[in-house]
Amino acid sequence: AARRVVVVGGGVGGCTAAKYLRKLDPSLAVTLIDPQAAYTSCFMSNEVLSGERTLESLTFGYDRLRAHGVQLVQDWAVGIDPDKQQVITQGGNRFDYDACVVSPGVDFKWEAIAGYDAQIANERIPHAWFAGPQTLLLRNQLQAMPEGGHVVIVAPLNPFKCPPGPYERASQIAMYCQHHKPRAKVTILDAKDAFSKQGLYMEGWRKLYGYGTDNSLIEWVSAAAGGAVEELDPDTRTLVGLVEDFQGDVVNIIPPQKAGKIAFAADLVEGDWCPVDKGTFESSRHPGIYVLGDASSAEKMPKSAYAANSQAKVAVAAIIARFRNQEPGDPTFVNTCYSIVGEDFGISVAAVYSLDSDTNTIEPIPGSGGVSPTNASPEIREREVSYAHSWFKNVINDMME
Ligand code: FAD
Repeated sequence: AARRVVVVGGGVGGCTAAKYLRKLDPSLAVTLIDPQAAYTSCFMSNEVLSGERTLESLTFGYDRLRAHGVQLVQDWAVGIDPDKQQVITQGGNRFDYDACVVSPGVDFKWEAIAGYDAQIANERIPHAWFAGPQTLLLRNQLQAMPEGGHVVIVAPLNPFKCPPGPYERASQIAMYCQHHKPRAKVTILDAKDAFSKQGLYMEGWRKLYGYGTDNSLIEWVSAAAGGAVEELDPDTRTLVGLVEDFQGDVVNIIPPQKAGKIAFAADLVEGDWCPVDKGTFESSRHPGIYVLGDASSAEKMPKSAYAANSQAKVAVAAIIARFRNQEPGDPTFVNTCYSIVGEDFGISVAAVYSLDSDTNTIEPIPGSGGVSPTNASPEIREREVSYAHSWFKNVINDMME
């Protein structure tokens, strides 16, 4: 009989794995379980906030995977039985597997900010850290905000999905305000004292948004300066800080994160994330289950779409090697994260990684990557925006087409 692989989660990691399993071994029976009928990408969703693109332009139906012979099941996975080798869905079905791939993304640690919860996020104070209705809610709130209004963004502690994401979001909102509400202000309240590509962001903010002057469109408040907030009054949209309180006309809270719910239900988690053998992405807790993407502990790779895509290919090769009684190969991984700071102003960080199997750590290969140059020419900054957009098309194609 055909070997069966069940994939939980049709995001970047899950789609890439399902597609490449079928491409590398068309004899495999591959089933992908996701509650949605289409995938809406978080990457590039900050551009919806500035009005540069629509949510529809980020939404991709799973028919593309059907064309690869993947069987789609629209349901939630609610449990995995590692002894019977079955995935159990909310709809009450059980799916037998010879190998299981789990890539459910993140969930939130709601308890970190008192007064904030899932309902308030859905209705009034969006996190918009999953692209979808909350992205549009935040966009509508920005459009409805009075001129001279105050946008407050709360950025979480590490590790979280898309380390440069909150700062790209602040930039995209500042870009929108510059055109439509030039007296507005965006304040980032940070639970940290440093962030990804900080030097490049600040260079962009100085050039584009007056950062460092009294009229700056963006202000960043580090944890040490009082940016760490632990309480929200949702009715007045006030964040209670240790040094001072911050009131916003529009408030966007990105809570700290942990692995998606199914990872906890399936006993794949230690602490907040799922430990894996980084040579194969097989769970250290349950053999035969491979955890990819944001939900996995994959130090020193960031939680990014590019990382999930790269890890999926390593896991696929390892699963197929196992089915053929072969040893898995030595993996290498790639990541690039682009951020669009403003019109014609893109920046990036890139690395190629190999595995240090002694420490089970994925290490950047020295000299393989780096960040965009500081004080680069306008041509380079403009080119990075076009690279960002073409990367987006390429990763979606690589996941599904
Ligand atoms: P996801 O892509 O989140 O997919 C998880 C899937 O699992 C979802 O489809 C969900 O419906 C499904 N699922 C969850 N639970 C279950 C369950 N119980 N049963 C079945 N299915 C389930 N990354 C980049 O590389 N570059 C960028 O420029 C970039 N920009 C970003 C900007 C923003 C604003 C955000 C929020 C993120 C950004 N990212 C970026 C990060 C990127 O979106 C994630 O790292 C990536 O999507 C991780 O892939 P994943 O497969 O782990 O999870």
